[in-house]
Amino acid sequence: MSAFVPLYERDLTIVSGKGVRLQDSAGRSYLDFAAGIGVNGLGHGDRAVLAAIRDQSRRLVHASNLYHSEPGSALAARLSALFPSRVFLCNSGTEAVEAAIKFARRLGRAEGRTELLAFEGSFHGRTMGALSLTWKATYREPFEPLVPGMGFSPWGDLEAAGGRIGRGTAAVVVEPVQGEGGVRPAPDGFLAGLAGLCRERGALLIADEIQCGLGRTGRLFAHQRHGFTPDMVTLAKPLGGGLPLGAVLLREDLAGRLSVGDHGSTFGGNPVACAAALAVLDRLTSEGFLESVEKKGATLARGLRAVARRHPGAIAEVRGLGLMMGVELRAAAAPVLKALAARGVLATRAGDRVLRLLPPLVVKPAEIREFLDALEAVLAGGAVESA
Ligand SMILES: *Cc1c(COP(=O)(O)O)cnc(C)c1O
Repeated sequence: MSAFVPLYERDLTIVSGKGVRLQDSAGRSYLDFAAGIGVNGLGHGDRAVLAAIRDQSRRLVHASNLYHSEPGSALAARLSALFPSRVFLCNSGTEAVEAAIKFARRLGRAEGRTELLAFEGSFHGRTMGALSLTWKATYREPFEPLVPGMGFSPWGDLEAAGGRIGRGTAAVVVEPVQGEGGVRPAPDGFLAGLAGLCRERGALLIADEIQCGLGRTGRLFAHQRHGFTPDMVTLAKPLGGGLPLGAVLLREDLAGRLSVGDHGSTFGGNPVACAAALAVLDRLTSEGFLESVEKKGATLARGLRAVARRHPGAIAEVRGLGLMMGVELRAAAAPVLKALAARGVLATRAGDRVLRLLPPLVVKPAEIREFLDALEAVLAGGAVESA
């Protein structure tokens, strides 16, 4: 019996990791195509990240938000150079979304703008504000009443969104690629159209790039693939190189309208996590890195589409961007994940029927081949019951 509150589906105890491989407590090795749910962008045990953690932890682990820290200031400067903004640092994705919600309300308040609009299929986190913007009923309903003034519009439907963005709208919150909701890239033109609507009607546009940002789609920010500039960007998962770290990047002129006390966090901007994040950003912005993600993403997509053609009874659709791919099955994903794990391959799912593939961005083409061979073998073995 586990000593945990029964909130988790877990079979394995993972004890160590190196690169794209994990080891469990029985000594079995796995190819990791979940990457800590998109956290381990540089894989496990990256030397530069470990060195940053080691060096910073010897110098200073925590001093609180009463002071600046060197890594915290350096990270804020780096992020604001990559996306013109000022930066708020926190400890997780849901905290970044909470901060973005508070900033939107704080900034909209004088004009009576208090409402936030999200999309069907969205996932923005589990704390009460972020949860109020999260679509899935089973996540939300047991905790109602939630934060008022939150609503949802159909994914990809610009006209419907246009009907909902008005004088009361503080902000629209969107994942450029929906993650948890099934790995759904925004359709062409949707995000640029949304940005136009928001600008025209005076609402802010928040891009939640917690999962799809920081290189995952082959661009540093996923919104760069869609030709629009959000007013805020939320980041977390891969930012801290495996340590808990979140960030909100807020348009500079808007940031100037916030003041001391509007929001805060005791742990936010932890120096060790920030030092790790600087090492992560060094790598993501190094020569050729993002191009390699794009190229490997194309290899993975091509391979998945070939598998889908050979198993049309099992696979309904392959979709995604870069190294963020979804394989929609015609039946439950759980048995396929189990069969993959039995062959030494770990992945995760998004909803009941979508295999969600988030390999470390440093995955090699041979490891992509290894994944595709395992998936092919599992499907040939009949792990999907056709619906
Ligand atoms: C994971 C995720 C979150 C929540 O992040 P946590 O660190 O789990 O709180 C929010 N938004 C998106 C798009 C995510 O993928």
